[in-house]
Amino acid sequence: MDRLKQRLTHVSKSDFNDWLKYDHEIGGSVKRKRDGSYEFVPLSTGSDSHGGSSDDPWTIRIPSSKIMFHTHPLGCPDHKHKDLCGYGVPSARDLEQFLDEEKTEAHMVIAQDGVYLMENKCLGKRSRRRSPGERDKRFIQSVDQLEKQTQQPQHAADAPEYHQHWWQLYKSHRPSCIDVTHFPYQ
Ligand SMILES: [Zn+2]
Repeated sequence: MDRLKQRLTHVSKSDFNDWLKYDHEIGGSVKRKRDGSYEFVPLSTGSDSHGGSSDDPWTIRIPSSKIMFHTHPLGCPDHKHKDLCGYGVPSARDLEQFLDEEKTEAHMVIAQDGVYLMENKCLGKRSRRRSPGERDKRFIQSVDQLEKQTQQPQHAADAPEYHQHWWQLYKSHRPSCIDVTHFPYQ
């Protein structure tokens, strides 16, 4: 995972431009190749609660892999619908689904403002992973409440405040299993 993080410290937006130009999400798995590069294999498309339509449930159904990804293509403001806004940070549903995956060590959310890497620190080496800690559950609940309060999609002006609020929740709850790092594009 350290090698992946090393790679993400100089990630460029042009790496993902082809996918971020769509207004729907793309998800898939990430494979590490022998030459040390990472191959992103898109498997399915869909939308989650960050995609802008709350009545459209998480529809990405992909076989679990060690490293997964999906896109948050809307951005703030969205490149097509100028007044709409899609946040880059993982949604409550993203966090919940990620922690439920028993084989997935890391999941990347590829957004307009960089890559958000979620890592699961509770995956057991031999036995099945422990159930997510209480702090993780409370963190996810608080993100869920934040989403309900702000009724996405929001206007672009609210985005910095939303992201700030999201990170405040992350820092105050200090989840024990889930670890999130933001890698801005270089
Ligand atoms: Zn998402």
